[in-house]
Amino acid sequence: MRWILLICLLLCSLPVWADTWTHYTVPGAVIFVPAGDEALARYVGGLTVQEIPRIAAALGVTTPHPLPIYAYNDRVAFLRDAGATPMLEGVSYHPSGLIRIDATQGGSIRTTLAHELTHSFLAQRLGSHLGELPLWLNEGIAGHLADPIPDEELPDVSFPVFRGRVLTLEEMDQAFRTRGDTTAAYIESRSLVAWLEHHHPGSIRRILAFLAEGASFDDAVYETSGLTPEAWWERWQRSIPNWIFWLTLLSSPVIYVPFALLLAIVAILRHRRRHADEEDEDEPTDETMDDPSSRLDRPCERID
Ligand SMILES: [Zn+2]
Repeated sequence: MRWILLICLLLCSLPVWADTWTHYTVPGAVIFVPAGDEALARYVGGLTVQEIPRIAAALGVTTPHPLPIYAYNDRVAFLRDAGATPMLEGVSYHPSGLIRIDATQGGSIRTTLAHELTHSFLAQRLGSHLGELPLWLNEGIAGHLADPIPDEELPDVSFPVFRGRVLTLEEMDQAFRTRGDTTAAYIESRSLVAWLEHHHPGSIRRILAFLAEGASFDDAVYETSGLTPEAWWERWQRSIPNWIFWLTLLSSPVIYVPFALLLAIVAILRHRRRHADEEDEDEPTDETMDDPSSRLDRPCERID
């Protein structure tokens, strides 16, 4: 039954030039590649087989549905199918779970694939409750599982903030919704998820379990960690060391503005001082006004 559903979804989602694709079946997925590119199919298929059990287990997905994965060896074709968004490397659709990845990016294919697999499995895990999961957390979990932070770096997990810029939860959601500048939002959401997993291990999996049972997001977070989402953000933010902001400030042009103003004031004062000195030289002094002849005319007192 599941395979019939998958085939129906594939037929609905196939691009108009579907006859140029070849598919290969691997455990948990069907890999589509441009016809003839068997090497790409083997590569992506190998990554998929490695990543699916890890990600499914982290999210509490016990019986992963097979996923259709399209791997592109042409950036233009990828953008044509996935949407012409700058920097886009992969996309996941729900409820089908279909994934498209740009396989022209070299070393980051594994990260992109893991990121999109996470989105697809989140959709499977939550089903009709997916809407309860905020966009920032959906992206944060995908970022965290795509590029896990090593255990030894977890105590410093709040360091990754983008140029010292901290977004509120709403600002992160807004960035992902509008697809504007999402760099800071991607970094911060991943850091928030890693922080929670470090301080409350297993939280993400438990939050998803609560949501899947119909709990609200606030309740799911509180039941899991004893925190509200805002308190979670607050504590994460307080753990960012001050030197991060100083480092950022020193590398920012803003720090040089006061120095520039100071230099400008000094230059103006020196200019005015020099100008005043020049005026002093031109003006007649009391001494030059004194007529020397008056001294000559002064009667001398002679003592014979
Ligand atoms: Zn994403």
